[in-house]
Amino acid sequence: MANVLFTNARIIDGSGAQPFAGEVLIQGNRISRIGRGARALPVSGVTVIDAAGATLMPGMCEAHTHFGWTNSKTLDAIQKLPHEEHTLWAAQVAKQYLDHGWTSCVGAATPKPRLDCVIRDAINSGQIPGPRYIAASQEITVTGSLGDDMLPHLPYPEMSFGCVVDGPDAMRKAVRMFLKYGVDQIKLNLSGDNLVPGADARTSWMSDAEVAVAAHETKVRGKRLASHARSSESVKQSCRHGVEVIYHASFADEEALDMLEAQKDKVFVAPGLSVILRLLYEGEVVGIDNKTAKSMGYELELEAAVNSMKKMLKRGIRVLPGGDYGFAWAPHGENAKDLEYFVKYLGMTPMEAIVSATRWGGQIMMRGKELGEIKEGYLADLLLVDGDPLSNIAVLQDRGKLLAIMKDGVFCKEPEIRSQRSRWSQTAA
Ligand SMILES: [Zn+2]
Repeated sequence: MANVLFTNARIIDGSGAQPFAGEVLIQGNRISRIGRGARALPVSGVTVIDAAGATLMPGMCEAHTHFGWTNSKTLDAIQKLPHEEHTLWAAQVAKQYLDHGWTSCVGAATPKPRLDCVIRDAINSGQIPGPRYIAASQEITVTGSLGDDMLPHLPYPEMSFGCVVDGPDAMRKAVRMFLKYGVDQIKLNLSGDNLVPGADARTSWMSDAEVAVAAHETKVRGKRLASHARSSESVKQSCRHGVEVIYHASFADEEALDMLEAQKDKVFVAPGLSVILRLLYEGEVVGIDNKTAKSMGYELELEAAVNSMKKMLKRGIRVLPGGDYGFAWAPHGENAKDLEYFVKYLGMTPMEAIVSATRWGGQIMMRGKELGEIKEGYLADLLLVDGDPLSNIAVLQDRGKLLAIMKDGVFCKEPEIRSQRSRWSQTAA
C-alpha cells in the first residue's frame, strides 16, 4: 500500500459542504491529511497524482444491491441458474459495481442461501475484487407473497426464490439458519409487489408475530433487519419492529411518515425507483408497453413514491440510492441513474444526491464515523471524476469518466493521468 498524494483536485468531501481546491494525502488505507489550495502538503515519500482539476469525491454506496440478480426478466430465470454458475456470476457482478464507482454495497437479498456470504468473504479475503459488502439473507416471505415461487422442476427443488415461512416457529428457524450462514442483514418481504399477480404493492402479508420473532432473533445476534415494504402498513410494521433498512416505502401515508420521522436517526429508506420508472417508460425492452405497465399499477406507484420520498426528505429522513438493478429493464452497472432520478423526480440538488450516496452511504454501512466522506482519519474510498457532478450528475453514470477508483487505500482503477505524467509523478525514497 503506497502513500498517495492527490494534488490539484476539486474536492467534494461528501459532507454537503461546497467543493474546494486542494490536496488529499492517503497513508495506508486512510485519509491522513487534507490541504486547501496548491502545494499545501509535502510531496516527499509519496506517489503524487496530479488530478489536473478533476473532482475528487468519496466512493459511492449502493443501498439496495442484488449481486445474484442475473439481468433477466423474471425471478424464476434468476432462480434457475444452478449454484456453481450463480457464484461465478455474482463474483463478476461484484467487480462490476466496484468498476462503476460503488465502493460499498448493501446486499438486499440473495437468491441462494449462502451466496452473499460467500461473495462477501471472498472479497474480504482478497480472492476476488469487489466493494465493501453487507451480506444479506434470501428474501424471507410467506405463502402467496413476493418470493413464494416454488419451481419443482429445478435442479434444487427444495428451493423457492424466497425462503417461504408461515408462522413464528418457521420464521425463527429460517432466521437462525441465515444467521448461522453468517449474514449481516436479514431481509423480510412484508408487502407484495406489482410484479406478483395477486399480491400487488399495496398489499401486506406478514403477521406481527412473525416479524417480531425475526426481529428478536436478528437483534439478539447483533445483526440488522431490512424489509421490502411498498405498502403503507408494511412501512408501519417495519417501524413497529425496529427494521432499520426499509426498501421502497412507496405508499407511506402520514402516519407511516410520522413513525419514520420518529426513528429518523436509525432508519434508512431506499426507494428503488428504477423498477417503477424503467417499466413505466422503457419497458418495451422486456415486452411491457406503457399501457401494460400502467395496468400493473406502476403509474400509481410512481406518483405515490415521489410524493412519499419528497415528504421524507422534508422531514429529514435519509433516502438513499440503490434500486434493484440486475433485471433486464435495469441491468447492473447502470445504478448511478438513481442519482439522476433523485434530482429529476425527488427535487434533490446534485449535492444532496451525492451526500445520499456518500455520507449517508457510510452510515448505512454502519461505519458512519470512518466511511463516506473525505475527512482526515476516514477510510480511503475515493473516486477521481473527469467532470463536475454538481453541474451534471449524470457524469457519474459514465464509467469512462471515472479516472481513478480507490478502495481502502488501494487503486482498483489506476489513474491514467499518472502514467501519462510519470515524468512528474514522483516517489521519493
Ligand atoms: Zn430488491
